[in-house]
Amino acid sequence: MPNLTIEARELVKRYGSTLAVDRLSFTVEAGRVTGFVGPNGAGKSTTMRMMLALDRPDGGEALIGGRPYTSYREPARTVGALLDPEAVHPGRRACDHLLWMAQYNGIPRKRVDEVLQIVGLESVGRKRVGGFSLGMRQRLGIAGALLGDPGILILDEPVNGLDPEGIQWIRGFLKQLAAEGRTVLVSSHLMSELQDTADHLIILGRGRLLADTTVKELLDQTSGDQIEVRTTERSRTIDALSLAGATVAVTGPETVTVTGLTTERVVSLLSAASIPFTGIGQHRASLEDVYMAMTREHTTFAAAPEDERALA
Ligand code: ADP
Repeated sequence: MPNLTIEARELVKRYGSTLAVDRLSFTVEAGRVTGFVGPNGAGKSTTMRMMLALDRPDGGEALIGGRPYTSYREPARTVGALLDPEAVHPGRRACDHLLWMAQYNGIPRKRVDEVLQIVGLESVGRKRVGGFSLGMRQRLGIAGALLGDPGILILDEPVNGLDPEGIQWIRGFLKQLAAEGRTVLVSSHLMSELQDTADHLIILGRGRLLADTTVKELLDQTSGDQIEVRTTERSRTIDALSLAGATVAVTGPETVTVTGLTTERVVSLLSAASIPFTGIGQHRASLEDVYMAMTREHTTFAAAPEDERALA
């Protein structure tokens, strides 16, 4: 596989008064899965569309293997993309949709059966797409992205709508594509979907780059020196430790998290005040905690959990 990068250079995109992408620069390297993470509305799809010349930047540029997408005569052989799994005519058979794409891109028709098999749709290839679940449409979209055996894959929320087995499948599959030396950029609004799959993370909030980092670096940077205390007497614990200058947050029915004191000091303060506790230890932030804290001020639309389900 050729060693191709995707580069965003000072990309800017405005929609009326909305600044969807704000001077965004990063490089996506080959041979690893790069997660493109940010809350809904952060600008991920807009950035991907600009990479694929489906949207024109108001500033900056996006380069695919060092060149603009439009400079490729047969782009499907270099870049495969999944943007909107619903963008297939429901009356079409899956194989006809892929055949049409293959013909349009000068790709031999035998490749259609190959990609249907790769994504596990060989048994429904002759069925109409209208009867497909969202998960099956996602697989069909991925089949389309793979038609030209491209070195670069750009996948927008491919996990959306997949069942647990489909999620397992796509995780392994993305890793395999990267291990073959391909450049894999995959977006999600949920960190949990990507934290075990992505080697590298690009985190976006309101069109801006918040972090360009590995999962490990992000955790190391932010886990800090918080201490978690398990106690049935939360309010007395909060009073005693706050008086000593700590910041204390309630993190569970019987847990508080303390910042600003050493473990020894917490133990001695609680003992001195005769406050019982059943456990004490270093608190390790989950990647989801870190992500939520990082993107909190950058969320344009914070859905309540019920709304989130309704939208999903
Ligand atoms: P994400 O993919 O991270 O959810 P988007 O790139 O879809 O974010 O959207 C970024 C911002 O740009 C949002 O505020 C969105 O409402 C706005 N936006 C995206 N596409 C359009 C469009 N075609 N017209 C107007 N506004 C748009």
